Amino acid sequence: RADLAMYQAKAAGRDTLRFYDPQMQASVSARAAMELDMRAGLAQNQFELYYQPQMEGGRIIGAEALLRWRHPRDGFISPGHFIPLAEETGLILPLGEWVLKAACEQLARWSQDPQLSRLSVSVNVSARQFRQEGFVAQVLAAIAGAGADGRRLKLEMTESLLLEDVEGTIAKMVQLKGYGVGFSLDDFGTGYSSLSYLKRLPLDQLKIDQSFVRDVLTDPNDAAIARTIVALASSLGLRAMAEGVETEAQRDFLARHHCHAWQGFLLSPPVPVAAFEALVRSRAADTVVV
Ligand code: C2E
Ligand code: MG
Ligand code: MG
Ligand code: MG
Repeated sequence: RADLAMYQAKAAGRDTLRFYDPQMQASVSARAAMELDMRAGLAQNQFELYYQPQMEGGRIIGAEALLRWRHPRDGFISPGHFIPLAEETGLILPLGEWVLKAACEQLARWSQDPQLSRLSVSVNVSARQFRQEGFVAQVLAAIAGAGADGRRLKLEMTESLLLEDVEGTIAKMVQLKGYGVGFSLDDFGTGYSSLSYLKRLPLDQLKIDQSFVRDVLTDPNDAAIARTIVALASSLGLRAMAEGVETEAQRDFLARHHCHAWQGFLLSPPVPVAAFEALVRSRAADTVVV
């Protein structure tokens, strides 16, 4: 009875402890199962990097590495589904380390090929991963272990990451920049960056979130936001890259407003590395400018 009372008090005090809710229970066990699957998947090489070309001035300058999970039973699972759980459970730490190593190994392979040696790779880094102790050492080990050139590695981070512990963030970024690693602010415009922080962070690039690009031709507010981000980047000495460009009209609008770097389905979705390399080679062979 005493135990029951204590349990009830706990349940009342912490609204997360609703074990009696069957739906909640189902989702808790589904999540636990997924966590186990993710651990096994990591051990069994079920994760893979896809590459989406990034364009600048009509040329492919590099690729964003985007994680894919081929689940043996459930098939392909998109990062939108497993990254949040990986962040919650801490699995993002080994997973993120695997991504960094795989991306650096790819860079090292490309460096051996004259047609691919100037490509850069952008890697998404989650807040928990960036904040872990030893993150800088982990990135440097991935670069050195692969024999990659740090100047070809870019890290994409989100605004929420940068808002916490600004001094610590700047210190880590400065250390990595010493090895040539670049930094992009992902999904820019969707978070809460204060402009005074933005000015202090050693960033290289702002990525215009795809939610502004989507309706840039029809929604005057989105057009104004996109133009403002380009102007802001320019006045801070940063580059601007648009995400989610799907039509020529969107690309042309952005170019007219001085945003010449972009990625999106207009050129290619994220694809397996062989398809990405084939795309780079085929474009090097012709002179068509997309
Ligand atoms: P993100 O970094 O903002 O990546 C852009 C997302 O937009 C990708 O979704 C990409 O496939 C998609 N996309 C690209 N071009 C277009 C387009 O023209 N139209 C539309 N509608 N979508 C486009 P994806 O691959 O599903 O990744 C979703 C998110 O998952 C990423 O957003 C990133 O936040 C996260 N993510 C992916 N890989 C990793 C990783 O290795 N580590 C971490 N921490 N997060 C990752
Ligand atoms: Mg990204
Ligand atoms: Mg993004
Ligand atoms: Mg996003």
